[in-house]
Amino acid sequence: MKQKVIEVLDQMSERTIKLGRTLFETPELGFKEFKTKEILIKELKDAGFEVEREFARTGFQVSLGSGHPHIGLIAELDAIPTLGHPYADLNDQSAAHTCAHSTQCAIMTSVIKALKEVDITQFPGKISLFFTPAEEFTDMAFRRDLIAKGELHYPAGKIEMLHEGIFDDVDLCLHLHAMGNDHYRFASDSHLAGFIYKKFTFVGKASHAAVLPHLGVNALNAFALFQSAAGMLRETFVDEDKNRFHGIVTEGGQTVNSIPERIVYEGYVRSFNTANMKLLSEKLTHAAKHCAEALGAECIVEDTPGYLPFKPCHELSLAVEENMLHFCKPEKILHDEKSVAAGDIGDLGMFVPTIQFGYGGVGGVIHGKNMFIQDEERLYIESAKVTAMTVIDLMSDPAKVQRIKDSFTPVMSKEEYFAYLNQK
Ligand SMILES: [Zn+2]
Repeated sequence: MKQKVIEVLDQMSERTIKLGRTLFETPELGFKEFKTKEILIKELKDAGFEVEREFARTGFQVSLGSGHPHIGLIAELDAIPTLGHPYADLNDQSAAHTCAHSTQCAIMTSVIKALKEVDITQFPGKISLFFTPAEEFTDMAFRRDLIAKGELHYPAGKIEMLHEGIFDDVDLCLHLHAMGNDHYRFASDSHLAGFIYKKFTFVGKASHAAVLPHLGVNALNAFALFQSAAGMLRETFVDEDKNRFHGIVTEGGQTVNSIPERIVYEGYVRSFNTANMKLLSEKLTHAAKHCAEALGAECIVEDTPGYLPFKPCHELSLAVEENMLHFCKPEKILHDEKSVAAGDIGDLGMFVPTIQFGYGGVGGVIHGKNMFIQDEERLYIESAKVTAMTVIDLMSDPAKVQRIKDSFTPVMSKEEYFAYLNQK
């Protein structure tokens, strides 16, 4: 069956590449992927699929078979603002597919079509392809508005899907992501960091900057003192956790002639260690409040949980690697990469054995205006073959799926997770 699926994917390669191009040229930001959804549904309906379920505003699912093992395939729908990209949507923040999520959709669509063609349902069990919205943590004003209106509960696709219980029946999930590293053909066992989004509002008191500085309280100075404190805290960062704290000043004062009354600094705390990430976040809150107090100002700190660190399921990575080796030498597979980037796949990976393997074939810089699809055959068709072959291995060997499940220990319960997300 694996040989047959390779042949089928070769036969449909032209159509897959065409679909990939169409999606790449149709970038939409998270929770707005309506045209993308329409294109994909048409493609899938032509192959005899029906939408099984819709969720998280723009997400949807198609499936083959029923029961268990139940294997989930993940394809992300959304684009990211990228000024100056040739296919950027000038009507919406220059959204462009510079993270190549469009390629995930084309690859996974061809995978499920090919699996149908080779009659995968002769094995017991089910395969579901989940098209997931809004992976990029961006366009927050729009998402907060949806949340305020009750149309959404969380600002990211997979988190909303976890809330809706969409993955409750799934035994394991296969996901893949384009990588910027051109030296390697594939990446396996890739980890991602998690993050907490922090907003610091330093509040002082305005007065004439030259004549009456003694009557003012300088919020910018309070912020500067905090920056020094944050710098001093960096020596407490644990190396192996790859902690980061970085941000931007989004309000820097009102006029030069007045003592700044209000300074807003927005930043991320990143880490591979969830417990230390929370601890570090608390340390920074503490430092900000007391630095402000030291100068007679005040600091209001608002935390928004971002994504949790992603820990891949090693046993599942090994299953995919076996199939990568049909297409490249072992030294062309990057192992155990620890990327300080983050994704909502981290949250899914807390509850379901999941991997996100990397595939090459893009040119330019990921998230950059020069990002483009360099090698369509390798990117679309070979990645699809690796995925489809792995699904066949898993479906034909339910004991293997059970071994993978047995190797997995959830880091926290769903109750603990939502309590963490909902903390004020
Ligand atoms: Zn991405």
